[in-house]
Amino acid sequence: MQAWVEKLVELQDIDLKIAKLELQLGELPKRQAEAELQYKAEADALTAASDELKQAEVAAKGIETQITTAREKKRDFQAKTITIKNNDEYRAAILQIEMMDKAIADLEEKQIEAMILIDQLRANKAQKEKDLEAGKARAKIVLADLESRKANFDKLIAAQAAKRPAIVTELEAISKADAEAGAPRTDYLACYNRLRASKSHPKTVGCVAILEDVACGRCHMSVTAQLKNETRKGKMVFCPSCGAILYSED
Ligand SMILES: [Zn+2]
Repeated sequence: MQAWVEKLVELQDIDLKIAKLELQLGELPKRQAEAELQYKAEADALTAASDELKQAEVAAKGIETQITTAREKKRDFQAKTITIKNNDEYRAAILQIEMMDKAIADLEEKQIEAMILIDQLRANKAQKEKDLEAGKARAKIVLADLESRKANFDKLIAAQAAKRPAIVTELEAISKADAEAGAPRTDYLACYNRLRASKSHPKTVGCVAILEDVACGRCHMSVTAQLKNETRKGKMVFCPSCGAILYSED
């Protein structure tokens, strides 16, 4: 295998590793957003439970006020009955008192229902508080985990990237040596970079071996025997179909 092929394949291995790591790194913000969204949902649920409880407490207060008012009215009617001399008026006052008794009984029943509801809503709120506490602990773990994974990815990417300059220097030296030996100068690195940068060739394998059945190792289209011969001689050849850099493993 030609020295430039060896170096380009080495460089490509590094770049593919970096691309894969960057892809995984790019997933992390999404995971973080998911964790934050879940925590926010738990916080919102607690707010809703608190609001519901407050409303029920206000309603219960209202019933209590109504009971107090009804009892006062009943006392007023009772006080009046002492001064009433007329039978009709007396009967009317007694009827009012009975009506007030009925109203008070209804309100007291409502008050019991309101108290039961408040108990339920208090329990619900307590549960939501617990959920949020658990959610807070969980979010902390998830975020810390994401943080450490991000740091790991950064470290791994940096370690791969650190290997590039030496290979780049070697490739440049090979191009220079070719020219000095009288062979036509080929800028192997520039060709590789162009291939990786082109939009029609996503950042995947760009430098591939010709397969045994004389086909491109990337797109699997046949290549001519002449192209294969040229790769054997160490010439840089591109796949006519997909543009990949072809080399011979012979
Ligand atoms: Zn191809």
